[in-house]
This record gives sequence, structure tokens and C-alpha cells, in this order.
Amino acid sequence: MTGTVDVLLIGGGIMSATLGTFLQQLQPDWKIAVFERLGEVAEESSNAWNNAGTGHAALCELNYMPAGPDGSVDPAKAIAINEQFQQSRQFWTTLVERGVLDEPKTFINATPHMTFVRGEKDVAYLKKRYEALRTQPLFEGIEYSEDSRVINQWAPLLMQKRRKGEPFAATRVPSGTDVDFGALTRQLIDKLKENGADVVTGREVKNLRRQKDGTWQVSYRDAIGRTPGRVNARFVFIGAGGWAIKLLQRSGIPEIKGYGVFPIGGQWLKTSDPAIVAQHKAKVYSQASVGAPPMSVPHLDTRVVDGESSLLFGPFATFSPKFLKTGRWTDIVSQVRFSNIGSMLKVGATNLDLVKYLVSELVKTHAKKVESLQAFMPTANGDDWELLDAGQRAQVMKGGKLQFGTEVVSGADGTIAGLLGASPGASTAVSIMLGVLKSCFPDRIAGWEPALTELIPSYGTTLNPDAATAEESTRRTAAALGINA
Ligand SMILES: Cc1cc2nc3c(=O)[nH]c(=O)nc-3n(C[C@H](O)[C@H](O)[C@H](O)COP(=O)(O)OP(=O)(O)OC[C@H]3O[C@@H](n4cnc5c(N)ncnc54)[C@H](O)[C@@H]3O)c2cc1C
Repeated sequence: MTGTVDVLLIGGGIMSATLGTFLQQLQPDWKIAVFERLGEVAEESSNAWNNAGTGHAALCELNYMPAGPDGSVDPAKAIAINEQFQQSRQFWTTLVERGVLDEPKTFINATPHMTFVRGEKDVAYLKKRYEALRTQPLFEGIEYSEDSRVINQWAPLLMQKRRKGEPFAATRVPSGTDVDFGALTRQLIDKLKENGADVVTGREVKNLRRQKDGTWQVSYRDAIGRTPGRVNARFVFIGAGGWAIKLLQRSGIPEIKGYGVFPIGGQWLKTSDPAIVAQHKAKVYSQASVGAPPMSVPHLDTRVVDGESSLLFGPFATFSPKFLKTGRWTDIVSQVRFSNIGSMLKVGATNLDLVKYLVSELVKTHAKKVESLQAFMPTANGDDWELLDAGQRAQVMKGGKLQFGTEVVSGADGTIAGLLGASPGASTAVSIMLGVLKSCFPDRIAGWEPALTELIPSYGTTLNPDAATAEESTRRTAAALGINA
């Protein structure tokens, strides 16, 4: 490929796919290219088996609403995450209506979201959390119970052969979802291609250099024949997952100075045994262990991938210096710069709980992993469960702190942006990419507003403050996406 493209998306994951779709809908006249280093798109974190497929809406994940030092709970962050997921639902609904996305059940399925906790302290906390959320319109329908018979109806595997004595409690939101972000990514990228985008797989971007005319000269190498090449782009989005840091550093933009990433891998226990799978239809989250990063909270999940249901339990944290599952052993050291080494050393020195947690996870045998599962499912038998490697998360390190969210780093002139970090992740790709549109295309965003409002009817507003608006949006998107509780 030679010449100049309007938009170059580096990486074929959910983030590039979402941004590309926005831009193709907003500016159908723009020339868009997608370069993916692997043989297929959606093979890294966005692949269904590399993530948990939770449609994160803060319905069940306790880390979005931790108890304060005085035991109080604040629903603000949970509401904000839910609002972001509603934008995703609205966007996907419009794309289904426009024929960009296929039959919704190929990528999203209704799966109740539950939280299950044990012990007096966590039971009291869960009750408080429930009380704070039950009056919020976006959490309409949340239920709470300490009754084993009720919880048994919601998720029998949690209750079978559970020892009496210890207090437990659960919440349930019937309108939760399981999302196959791999299928979603493939469908979006197929449509980009069908509508004229140049999608090239087996092409690894190596370098980016700013040109005098303001464009970016992007050098790459093709897997076949190791052929090098270059293309010029007016706007570059680095949706390279764990490798985004490397390319942002190579671009030389000052905004990336001081950042580093810390990779945390994961593993799941998986069963496809129809007799077990038939007894569980929910995503059940619990409380994190001491030192565990928020995204390592254990959960027992129904997954629907390619029309087949299975159960996943995990994640169990692993460590590898690679920033991508298919990354390089040198990844962790290749990011070291004068500007970030101090911050990285400080992270190492101040996160001893995390180090201890990682070590304890690394030494867990299959039997120990099954023991963790038995805290959720007392009848679990290790022979029914196989171990599966999940994707790598490259967590952001900045200012001596380890962060667990995502962060868009963009150049001051808006010609380049890249995404670091992993959580809440794919579920909030729509909201994150709206942020990229705003920060990188400040002169165009006002003109795009009518089209954005057609794509996302609540664009520029929030749903939760008005119960009727929230109800209308959730009902409409649930019906269109086939995820009625
Ligand atoms: C264990 C785990 C569980 C998770 N669970 C959830 C969940 O339940 N719900 C949720 O919403 N999110 C979840 N996430 C987060 C979610 O998976 C990610 O946020 C999301 O998939 C990231 O998408 P992406 O497009 O940025 O990256 P990726 O999907 O990783 O895509 C990046 C792509 O860039 C390509 N690439 C890299 N470098 C180059 C280069 N130099 N040239 C060309 N191509 C390149 C890669 O090959 C890859 O295809 C989870 C993540 C993990 C790891």
C-alpha cells in the first residue's frame, strides 16, 4: 500500500473496530486502513476465550463500589459504568438496525449478573450496596437474598452441598449480559472492509514518524516475505492492546513520557459438560482476595460462544513479561525509559501485596484452583474442568502508581491517539472511542452531533437521573438485542 489514508487503525481488536465503525458512519468519504499483525483480527484480548465476556455494567462487580473507610457505599462510579454500557447497547442496537451487525445472539446473550459473598462483614456490605442501588433507575430489578432456597433457584451450583453455619448473601440482576467481543469485532471489521476500508492482516507496524506536512509516516513489515513498507496517515489510532505503549513511545509524542505498563496474565477453568452447564445461567462475581487487582476478582460465568454454552471460572493471575499473549519476552524491558523508570520502581516497591498475591496465584496447582472454585461451587470435581490461558492485561503505571482503568493518550494536535490499560475494557469501547472522537477531532465533533445522536440516542446526556428515560432506553435496546430478562 502506498499513498495517504485519512485514518490508520493499528490493531484489529474491539477498540479499532469500534472507532473505525464510528468514523465510517460519520465520514463515509474517508479512506480507512486497518493493520493487524496476526493472521486474523480479534485474536488477542478481544477474542472470546481471552476475556470473560462480561457486559460490564457494574451490576455485579464489587470493585466499582467498594465500601469506604467508614463502611459507607457510594453508587456514583457504578452508575457511571452502567451509563457507559448503555451507550454500547444503544450503539450496537443502531448497528443491528442498519445491518452492520448480524443477528444479536451471535454476539450478545442475556445472562443474569449475580454477586455472592460469605461472612458477616461482606454480607453487611452487600446489603448496603443493594440498598444504595435498588432505587437507581439503571439498576431496576436488582434482587437481594440471604435465603439458600432463593439463591438455589437463582444459581443451584452455589448452594448444592454448601455447609451450613456461615452466613452468605447474593444479589441478582436478571438483565445482565454475556458478550462475545471476538464475534462483535469480526463483524464490525468485516463491515468496515465491505464498505471500502483496507483491512490487512499479517502486517506489523514497526515505527511512526511525524512528517513536515503533519501526517504520520507509518512503517510496517508483512508476515509474508517479511516485506517492509510505508504508508502515510492523517490520523493514527493505536489500538494495539498491550503493545500500544511501544508504538506510542516510538511516535515520540511527549504525552507518553512517564507511562509504563505492568503485564498480568490469566487462566480460566472451563467446563463444557452439558450436565453441569445446564445447571448454571449467570455470571457470579465475588469479593477479591487481599492484594488481588480488582480485575482478578473470581467469578463463575456462563459463556455463549458460537452458539455453544460453557462455564468459565477464574481468572487466576499468571505472570509473563509479554504485553500480548503473542507478545515478546523482551516486552517488559523494552519499555524502560529515563522518564518512566522512577515511576516503575516506585510501583514495584509499593505494591508488595500484589506481588504476594501474584506469587500465591503462580504456585497454585490444579487442585488448589479447583479448591478456589469449590468456594463457589462446593460440588466441583477437578476432572470436569480444564485449564485455559486467558489474554494478557497491560496495566497502566503512571506517577509511581499502578492503575486498573484504561487511559487514552493522545498527541496535542489530535493526529494520534492510543489506548493503554484494560478495564472495564471492551464493554466500554463505545464510550472510550467517543472520548477519542472528542479529543482528536475537536473541529468536527459539533458537526457530527446529529449523526452521533442517531447512532446513540442518549448521546451527550445521561439516563439514570430520569427513570422514564432510563426505562425507555433499556427496554428498547433489550428488545432489539434480544436480551430481555
Ligand atoms: C483475562 C481478561 C478478562 C477480561 N474480561 C473482560 C470482560 O469480562 N468484559 C470486558 O468488557 N472486558 C474484559 N477484558 C478487557 C478486554 O478484553 C479488553 O479491554 C479489550 O479486548 C481490548 O481491546 P483492544 O482492541 O484494545 O485490544 P486487543 O483485542 O488486544 O487487540 C489489539 C490488536 O492489536 C494487534 N497489534 C498489536 N501490535 C500491533 C502492531 N505493531 N501492528 C499491528 N497490529 C498490532 C494485536 O495483534 C491485536 O489483535 C478482559 C481482558 C482480559 C485479559
